[in-house]
Amino acid sequence: MAKVLVVEDEEDIRYIIVSVLSMEGYDAVEAGSIEEMYHRLNSGSFDVIILDLLLPDGDAVDEIPRLRLSTQDSYILVLTAKRSDRDRILGLEMGADDYMVKPFNPREVVARVRALLRRRKQDYEEVLKVGEITINRSRMSVEKDGKTIPLSHKEFSILSLLASAPNKIFSRSEILDAVWGFEDVSDRVVDVHISYLRKKLGFDVIATVRGVGYRLKVD
Ligand code: CA
Repeated sequence: MAKVLVVEDEEDIRYIIVSVLSMEGYDAVEAGSIEEMYHRLNSGSFDVIILDLLLPDGDAVDEIPRLRLSTQDSYILVLTAKRSDRDRILGLEMGADDYMVKPFNPREVVARVRALLRRRKQDYEEVLKVGEITINRSRMSVEKDGKTIPLSHKEFSILSLLASAPNKIFSRSEILDAVWGFEDVSDRVVDVHISYLRKKLGFDVIATVRGVGYRLKVD
């Protein structure tokens, strides 16, 4: 049974979220403040943390980096009351996985939680072997022919994305969205990182599909 921590100080909203999740068979646990959230996290791990940003003891945006580090296996779904891009973008930049703007339909929460858990299944194929390359996602390491290849974080993310569907062509904008998210960078940055990857992994590993994008070559 997937465990969900619902961090929300408005009692009626928290109650509704917990109720719909429980009805769907999730094990939903409540917290009404940042302090209570850490208390819950100390006594167990959660698959998804639903996090309201405005809590009585602080702005939960500031807690996201710490959560990200201490609960690497959890997905964070941010709830924001304001229709504010600042909160939304900040939440995602800090490492949240998804967000919802209040007011929302409680059924939507269930759908989002389900989508995150599906995503996790794909993300946590921890060790991917593609041709001569072995990608270990939990250790963020890459080996080729038994030798560890040092990659930057972005290089690793690109390789990991391409390896999630070998031979599938990923467009530059797909790669940008997946790896850079909301960062405002140009398409060129993708080409530059692909060239770094080729230098490190060998020039035959990633194919350019002219005018379309890139794919990881596998025979
Ligand atoms: Ca609140």
